[in-house]
Amino acid sequence: MSISLSSDFARAVPEMAVSWEAVPVPEPVLLVLNEPLAKELGLDPAWLRSDGLPFLVGNEAPGVAQAYAGHQFGGYSPRLGDGRALLLGELTHADGTLRDLHLKGSGRTPFARGGDGLAAVGPMLREYVLSEAMHALGIPTTRSLAVVATGAVVHRELPLPGAVLARVASSHLRVGSFQYARNTGDHDLLRRLADHAIARHHPGSTYLELFERVVAAQAELVARWMLVGFIHGVMNTDNMTISGETIDYGPCAFMEAYDPTTVYSSIDHGGRYAYGNQPIVAEWNLARLAEALLPLFADDEDRAVSLALEALGTFDGHFERAWIGGLRAKLGVTGDVQPLLKDLLTLLHANHVDFTSFFHRLAAAARGDAEPARSLFLDLAGIDDWIARWRSLGPDADAVERVNPVYIPRNHLVEEALAAGSAGDLGPLERLLDAVTSPYGERPGLEHFAAPAPQDFSATYRTFCGT
Ligand code: AMP
Ligand code: MG
Repeated sequence: MSISLSSDFARAVPEMAVSWEAVPVPEPVLLVLNEPLAKELGLDPAWLRSDGLPFLVGNEAPGVAQAYAGHQFGGYSPRLGDGRALLLGELTHADGTLRDLHLKGSGRTPFARGGDGLAAVGPMLREYVLSEAMHALGIPTTRSLAVVATGAVVHRELPLPGAVLARVASSHLRVGSFQYARNTGDHDLLRRLADHAIARHHPGSTYLELFERVVAAQAELVARWMLVGFIHGVMNTDNMTISGETIDYGPCAFMEAYDPTTVYSSIDHGGRYAYGNQPIVAEWNLARLAEALLPLFADDEDRAVSLALEALGTFDGHFERAWIGGLRAKLGVTGDVQPLLKDLLTLLHANHVDFTSFFHRLAAAARGDAEPARSLFLDLAGIDDWIARWRSLGPDADAVERVNPVYIPRNHLVEEALAAGSAGDLGPLERLLDAVTSPYGERPGLEHFAAPAPQDFSATYRTFCGT
């Protein structure tokens, strides 16, 4: 089978695409393959499992390392780029649009700085399971096509088995891509990059409309993250896409007990990327995107700034609409429910209630059996009062069941599956994937996947960045 990949990105902005070859993998071993996704991309799963393995680790043809910059924890780095990743090119999806085929862990590139260019099996399986769970939850995200073990040893705190993740995205354009282009001072490059983004994501848009759409997409994305308790963990500007897809599953995790200050990332000491900070951070990142795009908005700088501010000002409205609308849907009610929502979040927080379990158990409560939901609270009078108010609005139990997942990638189960997978046993990962890729509706035998982690696990759980 010969695969024809296009080079849309490399043609549009050759200055930002360094042609590069993946490190040779003499004995690739397939760990997990996303057959439905492969088919959507016109790739034959049987071929990928056999003769196509060299293709999946980038050993058939060179790719490009993409240049980008980024604000990491608020500090600007003018040159980040794909240090251990390669864009192999674009494939045409069954829906007729292009998709990037991108590798992570494919060896050092000119952007590697001090890094070894490699990735370990555990973190690549983690990206696979989390991204596929997010996709199943209906949240825009990069997808995972495959994880292939390389046989190489990756030296972290301990020696770890190496892997390459093949991932798929509607593009890998980031806020940081625009910061990079702007930073070169070459307005023609900036314009070509923006034209490429428009052609790829919003054909026919003006530059200002492109920005407005990115503002709307990211506002909605963050609201949707929060509606399922997702904490990205490292919302640097190089990890926020123009498409509004979730990207770079490093130290991300799902919140269990509702608490807006929740942080799992071991490197996020100040809580910059805490659950409840995510909208503010997204808006901050979008302001950086606006700065990068300014010369394209208007020739007159004051005029450009005022257009940018006006567009940025729509963020809050987009976020609130998605967040409040989403919560209303989770409760299965319509109309003005602001006081009810506010009181609920206060109760969830004060009682350390598992966010996912509560909303899922509301379906039974809407049908008359409130006990499963109320038993999550210590303040029984408080929750009884709240449930009575909510029931008086006539919640739609079926709707509650449809929008609230039962199975999310619980942190303790993810860790368990990755540890087993790294040791060669993929069974736990396959079972976890089965649960989280069909997240709605209880299935007998999967109770284990619906339960929160034991207290002592959650209290000390930390995640580590893209290592
Ligand atoms: P991340 O934290 O994964 O978003 O990565 C931030 C930057 O570090 C990007 O430019 C990555 O390409 C680079 N990077 C991360 N890990 C490695 C590694 N092991 N080798 C080379 N570059 C890396
Ligand atoms: Mg990144």
